[in-house]
Amino acid sequence: MTAYMDHKDLANETIDAARIQEITDGAHRVLDLIAQTEFTSGREEGSVTLLAATKTRDVGEIMAAIDAGVHMIGENRPQEVIAKIDGLRYACLQRGIVLGASDMQTVARLDETDDPEALDRLPLHLIGQLQSNKIGKMLPDVNTIESVDSFELAEKIARRAAAREQTVGVLLEVNESGEPTKSGCAPDEAFELALRIAQLEGLELQGLMTVGAHVDDEREIRRGFAHLRDVRDRVRDSDAEGTATCAELSMGMSGDMTYAIDEGATIVRIGQAIFGDRDFK
Ligand SMILES: *Cc1c(COP(=O)(O)O)cnc(C)c1O
Repeated sequence: MTAYMDHKDLANETIDAARIQEITDGAHRVLDLIAQTEFTSGREEGSVTLLAATKTRDVGEIMAAIDAGVHMIGENRPQEVIAKIDGLRYACLQRGIVLGASDMQTVARLDETDDPEALDRLPLHLIGQLQSNKIGKMLPDVNTIESVDSFELAEKIARRAAAREQTVGVLLEVNESGEPTKSGCAPDEAFELALRIAQLEGLELQGLMTVGAHVDDEREIRRGFAHLRDVRDRVRDSDAEGTATCAELSMGMSGDMTYAIDEGATIVRIGQAIFGDRDFK
């Protein structure tokens, strides 16, 4: 288990008013910047979804972000999902929201509403690496796995999902910058790989994901985002089996979200600009 999990109780639900205010202000600033960038980039209003990247944040902090209007939650590590899911699910239901892939039996057990289908939904994505022995644990909770970067992993997820008679969303992660520390498939393999993954039963290929280049050169960062968009367009226009749903571009973090939106992002994954600096990595 990662060391910081021993230092911080991720299931903690109570945070003080000052911390709630800090997170509320952060989320509102990010939502404003998204709206402003949609406008200046000629993007349709509301076409960019704000995913709060919640690694190292506890249930209380995440609920403050949800109350401030973030659209979805992204966790990096299966262990963090497991530590937080019960608390998050319950707190969401108290607000009339169903979190993640909760099946209706789970909802009915936790909630007394007459019509659970009528509740709002808040998606939960996995945005960090997934080892195959954790797939089964994640399927009851997450709607979409953004970090699929090989056919082998996609096939394993598909098999587990099909066995549960479930369809799970996946994004193909592409290492656009080529930095060796980053996960993701090679950019020139992305198109073929996306077409193969799209055919798998039990999966829905929903789009592509990348982490922007860790450089100061704006053109270099934009080049990776633009290439991801180009791959998405070619996959979607291929008419190949299972590619019609390939619509999402998950790209842009706290430092490069305006470039990403300008290049066509549909999901931006934001941590520090909402929650402040991370104490633990
Ligand atoms: C942490 C993380 C983010 C958010 O990064 P910030 O710099 O905190 O906005 C986005 N995507 C992934 C995959 C992450 O691990």
